Amino acid sequence: MTARRLDGAEIARQIKEELRARLGELEGRGTRPGLGVVLVGDDPASAAYVRSKTRTCEELGLFHETRRLGAGATTAEVLDAVEHYNRRVEIHGILVQLPLPRQVDTQRVLDAVRPDKDVDGLHPENVGRLVQKRPRFVACTPAGIMEMLRRSGFEVAGRRAVVLGRSDIVGKPMALLLMHADATVTVCHSRTKDLAGVTREADILVAAIGKAGLVRAEHVRPGAVVVDVGMNRVTDPAVARELLLPSRLPEFEKKGHALVGDVHAPSVQAVAGALTPVPGGVGPLTIAMLVSNTVRAAAGAA
Ligand code: NAP
Repeated sequence: MTARRLDGAEIARQIKEELRARLGELEGRGTRPGLGVVLVGDDPASAAYVRSKTRTCEELGLFHETRRLGAGATTAEVLDAVEHYNRRVEIHGILVQLPLPRQVDTQRVLDAVRPDKDVDGLHPENVGRLVQKRPRFVACTPAGIMEMLRRSGFEVAGRRAVVLGRSDIVGKPMALLLMHADATVTVCHSRTKDLAGVTREADILVAAIGKAGLVRAEHVRPGAVVVDVGMNRVTDPAVARELLLPSRLPEFEKKGHALVGDVHAPSVQAVAGALTPVPGGVGPLTIAMLVSNTVRAAAGAA
């Protein structure tokens, strides 16, 4: 068996097409949605994610602006940047690119984002609303995964779902969304015992741990839907040969690096019923949902 490939890029394209219509309506009312980004430090991965997000804004005609702060920025300086966007009427959504440097109090910064501009869904008010099943803005990655499951025709109600990882940004909101969609949900983390025993029970398995290729065939129930959130950069040729699908090796040899997920695609592909690729799976959906949330924020403000 070879798993069905869940093409996140294609689903993201559909979501963006639908947003165009919504953007046209807003334009008719004189509103152009705007995203304000705060980027702190010089982590190349964070800069690349911000570029992808702002490129999508441009593609769809949203206004966007990025405030860049040095790696030594203080909490007060980052709070200032957030406050600036909180006040600006042409900014409807605020994205603080994570992670922030260690000296910055991340929780204080996220708490300072106006809840009605919190398009990343990380403010406690929005997290609380999600817990109570009356969501406003939901973290983009899990929201995108739910869209993908829905649009791909997978039944969630009554299924066993296992979420690997319990971060605020992926694991926890993912588990809540699956529970609210009537799945029976188990959350695993670094202290979980007999991980493979638990994950093998899943009809839907979401891996968000940040460990390249950790999820192997023995973790997967035959026919399960496997969603790979992980984004891990591989530079060692031996590791690349072990983790990459053979078809991706020429790309690795050319560039000297490649992105791999938390799922070991070569072995899991033979067991799973469906699998998201990395890249081209969850990543594009995350960006589409960020833009979608920004458009919704603007519609609410219009
Ligand atoms: P995180 O904050 O580092 O959380 C990782 C979680 O995985 C933690 O709950 C941790 O458990 C658990 N974990 C770590 N090692 C484990 C192991 N060996 N067995 C079981 N659980 C383990 O990471 P994150 O922000 O959620 O991100 C996870 C991955 O998704 C990363 O690769 C990240 O780059 C990627 N990501 C991708 C997107 C996208 O758009 N595609 C978006 C966000 C994140 P403890 O809680 O016990 O420490």
